[in-house]
Amino acid sequence: MPRLLLFDIDGTLLWTNGAGREATRLAMIEVFGTEAGLTQHVFGGKTDWRTLVDLLGQTGVTSSEIEQQMPAFHEAMTRNLAAIIAGYHVEACPGGLALIEALRQRDDVLLGLVTGNVKDAAAVKLRAAGYDPGWFPVGAYGHEALERDVLPALALARAVDHYRHPLQPDDVFVIGDTPADVSCARALGGRSVAVGTGFFERDELIACRPNHYLDDLKGFLDILDN
Ligand SMILES: [Mg+2]
Repeated sequence: MPRLLLFDIDGTLLWTNGAGREATRLAMIEVFGTEAGLTQHVFGGKTDWRTLVDLLGQTGVTSSEIEQQMPAFHEAMTRNLAAIIAGYHVEACPGGLALIEALRQRDDVLLGLVTGNVKDAAAVKLRAAGYDPGWFPVGAYGHEALERDVLPALALARAVDHYRHPLQPDDVFVIGDTPADVSCARALGGRSVAVGTGFFERDELIACRPNHYLDDLKGFLDILDN
């Protein structure tokens, strides 16, 4: 049975070095008229939906207004990101491009995404770092849930449908750089791989008891083959 690998984006596959935060700011001003407290916000594995609720809740915007505006935010976020991203030094995390290239040659793994980004913005980020979004035909995204914990099950259901394999939670690896990534793997009943290329220290990630910890993606094939 092949294994389904669900990758996080920011801090795991790539760094946008500020482009994501700036596009979020522009989209929030456009759609909600305020950036709220965005400059101090810790994204840390949150879905974009959760980020909006956390920030805008303090300014009196209700959760249902945010839900109603999510399609507008999705569009504005993507458009603003696409407009500014060339001005930022977006780069793949160490070993990321080589790993995905190697995985694409294998018939025992299936690729997908679990990310807090809204779907179309995820594609813009991937392209800017040298990944083809088409390499990740299934995923679950930050406009689809407040809580990241529900995203892996969504991605798994889509993978079963798309790849036509009866995959089980135990066949799934969730790879990410935050405690929220480890938590959402656990919520599914899948395996977690924490990587130290984001904003969390090695000790903080290990304290979350992931199934595996890696300093970066270069060691990932050893996990898969052992
Ligand atoms: Mg991340």
